Amino acid sequence: MPQKKLFAALSLLSLLSIPAFAIPVTVNEHVIIAPQCLIKNSHGDYTLLASQPGFALITVNSSGIEQLIEAKHQAEHGNPCGGFVDVTHAWQSTHFTAKNASQFLQNYLQPAKSLMQNKASYSIRYPQQVKQIFDTLNPQAMWNNLTTLTNFNDRYANSDNGVRAANWLQTQVATMAKDFHRDDVTVYTVATGSYYKQPSVVVKFGNSSEPGVVIGGHMDTLSSTFSKKPGADDDGSGTVTVLETARAILSSNMHFKRPIYFIWYAAEEEGLVGSGHVVTDFKKKNIPVHAVMQLDMTGYAYKNQPDIWLIKDYVNKDLTGYLEQLINTYVKQPVKYTQCGYACSDHASWTQGGFVSAMPSESAFENSNHSIHTSQDTMEKLSLTHMTDYVKLAVAFAIELAEPVV
Ligand SMILES: [Zn+2]
Repeated sequence: MPQKKLFAALSLLSLLSIPAFAIPVTVNEHVIIAPQCLIKNSHGDYTLLASQPGFALITVNSSGIEQLIEAKHQAEHGNPCGGFVDVTHAWQSTHFTAKNASQFLQNYLQPAKSLMQNKASYSIRYPQQVKQIFDTLNPQAMWNNLTTLTNFNDRYANSDNGVRAANWLQTQVATMAKDFHRDDVTVYTVATGSYYKQPSVVVKFGNSSEPGVVIGGHMDTLSSTFSKKPGADDDGSGTVTVLETARAILSSNMHFKRPIYFIWYAAEEEGLVGSGHVVTDFKKKNIPVHAVMQLDMTGYAYKNQPDIWLIKDYVNKDLTGYLEQLINTYVKQPVKYTQCGYACSDHASWTQGGFVSAMPSESAFENSNHSIHTSQDTMEKLSLTHMTDYVKLAVAFAIELAEPVV
């Protein structure tokens, strides 16, 4: 609905003294929070509900979502505008109305600000255990898994392939748990609202109810309606990085003080929808979380440089500093910092939910893989050595923060 018509409709309704209501959102409409620069670049139709410096709350239809995705992709080659968040579910489950939409926007943006502040101190305590796991890493198995994932025509959140990819991941972990005689592995799915059919896959390792250590990546790609979407780098690389981390840890004889959650999110590309539902599910079940790491693109090494990059905006500074310490201690590659803008991956959903998160990345934001979101996001552009370095970082993160118990 064009903006003018919407306001006309709203004032008509207020004349009729209809009680305050949330703007009705039909199946094809999405309520979105996005940086102004992204909206400006998307050239799509939208209805403005509220705005504040740098950000806006808007509604778009499904083609508007596609245009936002395209604008995000274009921005990846230039300024770090970041991504957008589909907040349809949050909007519908609260009682905000068009009148106080700006309050909704302000409330939504608030946690990101406070959680970027320092919170905790971390140390290096388990070098022996970390190295024990390093000795068992199997890069070839990771490469084979990536071959399987890229053989799906797509892993789109609203396709049967997307659902098959989620099922495949569940089967992999269930098989590992059986093979390694682990009886403390729970695999479950979290539905991605009513619009997307692909669920997120959550694995809880360990029976402890201590705050958990979360390591995740998104399994979805865009749709293959016009061309195949292998999604090798985005985010097949992160998906198999998480899977190999899980395999290596489950294959050990270690148990931990804190549970480790391995998560594959659905519908990241559509506005962090899967991770939004996962975080809501954690909060609904009162599951405490110690720290979160997001792995979104770990395979492309710009000019074959071995640097490990850390995202420095919209993340927790202390946890990010700890990642640098882990890399220096265990991965032994140069550490560099880059920015990717607002809501550029699923860690933003955790920050939004009040949790501490950080995100390493394959390259500087402006030098990341330009083939993502196309049929050319294929494996031959990726470096298995680079990906393995991110597995090492994830293993060190899991072991040091979950704390092995004898
Ligand atoms: Zn991605």
